[in-house]
Amino acid sequence: MIILKSILLIITLLSFSMIQFTCGTEVIYVAGEKGEPGEKGDPGEKGDPGEKGDPGEKGDPGEKGDPGEKGDPGVPKIQKRGGVVFTFDDRFVDAWYDLHRLLDDTGWKATFFISRFYQNTSEHIDKLKKMQEYGHEIGHHGQGHRQAVNYVQENGIEAYLENEIYSQKRLMAEHGFHPTAFAYPFGSRNTTIDSVLLNEFKIIRGVTNVRSSGYYNTGDNLVFGLSIDGLSVPTAYVKGIIDEARRDDKVVIFYAHETVRYITDSYKTEILAMVELVKYVNDNNMNFVKISDLNR
Ligand SMILES: [Zn+2]
Repeated sequence: MIILKSILLIITLLSFSMIQFTCGTEVIYVAGEKGEPGEKGDPGEKGDPGEKGDPGEKGDPGEKGDPGEKGDPGVPKIQKRGGVVFTFDDRFVDAWYDLHRLLDDTGWKATFFISRFYQNTSEHIDKLKKMQEYGHEIGHHGQGHRQAVNYVQENGIEAYLENEIYSQKRLMAEHGFHPTAFAYPFGSRNTTIDSVLLNEFKIIRGVTNVRSSGYYNTGDNLVFGLSIDGLSVPTAYVKGIIDEARRDDKVVIFYAHETVRYITDSYKTEILAMVELVKYVNDNNMNFVKISDLNR
């Protein structure tokens, strides 16, 4: 297993080096799914700064399985500070599973928001089950990956609930998945749909391009992710966002889609970028947080 991982990592590194060689050091950063203007950084929604980073809510570091807890009581514990929620949208089960296998000895946790669950083969479902058993969260991203605002306008909220939410919830339940989190396809949302969906899920995620809106505020059940689509290496910008979470002991939420060896198109994030980001979170003694853990 370790050998296999090493080989995978070497292949990844080699492919990465080749890209660097052919493309120079250009770093592509694509914002990805863009939220509606109303979503972006509405400061009123995100609460005032005084609400941010109540350390009491962020999980007692001792609870997070700090290895220092067991064994040598003479060694002072390094307390974890702040956290990162990695979320992945759509239905890239094979790519996500490969990433999970590559990283499963790092202790990382992520939330995978799945759309069009009915298209999964039994092999995909087995992979998702293994990921859930490991400790990742499987969330809901819409049976038809529909734009919520348009669909509700045209068909009404009842049809939206049945065709987009309940139908997939029932199918997922048949396979042992009981999603408690939802991510809006295309970030398409409004406060009416939010309030209806919050009866069905304990937390929902939109998207934002505004850095300050990507952090969880205590008590939020509507949160916004920052894009890490298009990332080929962890940029200073993304590391800076994580650094801020650690400094202020708060949680930042990221979203991505497909993980690939190298970027050829939109909605892709390089595997090596994820490997390095996960390492960065661990090296900085921060927590991996699943999205439903934000609002217990
Ligand atoms: Zn999507």
